Amino acid sequence: MTQKLWKENLITGYQNFRAGPYQRNKGLYEQVGTQGQSPDVLVISCVDSRVSPSTVFNADPGEMFVLRNVANIVPPYDPTAGYHGTSAAIEFAVKNMKVKAIMVMGHESCGGVAAFLASLDNAPDTDAEHSFVGSWIQILDAAHKRFMASDTGAASQQKQMEYAGVRQSLLNLMGFPFVEKAVAAGELSLQGAYFSIIEGRLLFANADGVFEEVASG
Ligand SMILES: [Zn+2]
Repeated sequence: MTQKLWKENLITGYQNFRAGPYQRNKGLYEQVGTQGQSPDVLVISCVDSRVSPSTVFNADPGEMFVLRNVANIVPPYDPTAGYHGTSAAIEFAVKNMKVKAIMVMGHESCGGVAAFLASLDNAPDTDAEHSFVGSWIQILDAAHKRFMASDTGAASQQKQMEYAGVRQSLLNLMGFPFVEKAVAAGELSLQGAYFSIIEGRLLFANADGVFEEVASG
């Protein structure tokens, strides 16, 4: 294996894209490239390499606004100074793109959720270099407290936390004034979702926050 294999793989993938999907959608690329994007949906998902929203939803270019971060977390509304990349993307999607829906999509075997659960058992390492992941996933603490206070059902703790994280992100979304306003006006819907990597199956959260399988065709 050469050191540059990753680059060769990327170039091969790009060439396959040019010959296949791009060739088939050439007109669409030209259209959205010229006239601009107008996606209906913002999907917030994990950076995990196995969970690609545009693949799962078979989305065309221009169809879906995608925001990915560690463990598909929406942080609480926090207008103080800081580099709020996730919040900035949400604001842009709602205020500028005027998306009709925001979907938070959790997934099976999430490393971010596993790291959060592991952190519950470990004392914080005060000597360590600052961990951005470590502080980011602590946002899940509110989800964990809600999950501990509720009926946990039969699923594993990992899966329950993955579900709880999605529910918490939906709650946090409603803390953003422009989201709350758009939802109240009936212009914006929020949806929880969950992707099972092993089975390639999608679940949607119902009005009670219970995840139910979506018909696969
Ligand atoms: Zn993940």
